[in-house]
Amino acid sequence: GTPSGASSTAPGPSSGLPPGVVLGKDGKPCRTCSSGSAFKSFASTLKPASGSSRASTATTGGALAAAAAAATATPAPAENDCPPDVEQLGRSTWTLLHSIAATYPTTPSAREQADLQTFMGLFARLYPCWVCAEDFQAYMREREAVRVASRDEFGTWLCRAHNAVNAKLGKPAFDCARWEERWRTGWKD
Ligand code: FAD
Repeated sequence: GTPSGASSTAPGPSSGLPPGVVLGKDGKPCRTCSSGSAFKSFASTLKPASGSSRASTATTGGALAAAAAAATATPAPAENDCPPDVEQLGRSTWTLLHSIAATYPTTPSAREQADLQTFMGLFARLYPCWVCAEDFQAYMREREAVRVASRDEFGTWLCRAHNAVNAKLGKPAFDCARWEERWRTGWKD
């Protein structure tokens, strides 16, 4: 998935970037805004040619011994221990947000409501996929402001907001009557 709903800001075909790769505000390709496979294949086209100075120093005996020692001391990172792409980031973030809803009080204090309001406002500004963040801010501003008066109110608001992203990406809508079963109680059989 390419971040969509951001057609106004995502680079068009004239940018010279392959589809699925989105630029960050610094003008560099943005991994957390891009599809993982598109970003990877694009990045591989930018790698320097082999035979770099780093590779040749590793052929000395000392460097090899040091590398072997390091390999036994530190387990090799798993293949998928990489910075997240837009989908991994999204799945993890929805898990956090719906879990916050699941543990939010049924009758929150004024302080708890204010905290959640502040958190969601900052979240929407800080979310690392900037095209996603801008669309989410627009949703909160133009479609439905965040609702924090109770667990069910926030959980249902969040479900609708998630469904708006699902719709944008062509994914099916989730039945918001069941958000608590998915994120708090487990499915009723
Ligand atoms: P996800 O959408 O990540 O959902 C995870 C799980 O949540 C699902 O498996 C399902 O069990 C459950 N679920 C699904 N819908 C709901 C719902 N409505 N309520 C409760 N539970 C639900 N990606 C883009 O490409 N472009 C964007 O503009 C974009 N904007 C995003 C904005 C935000 C704020 C976030 C958090 C993510 C955004 N993403 C965006 C990522 C995108 O929403 C998905 O996370 C990503 O595509 C992976 O999707 P997925 O199919 O694994 O399921």
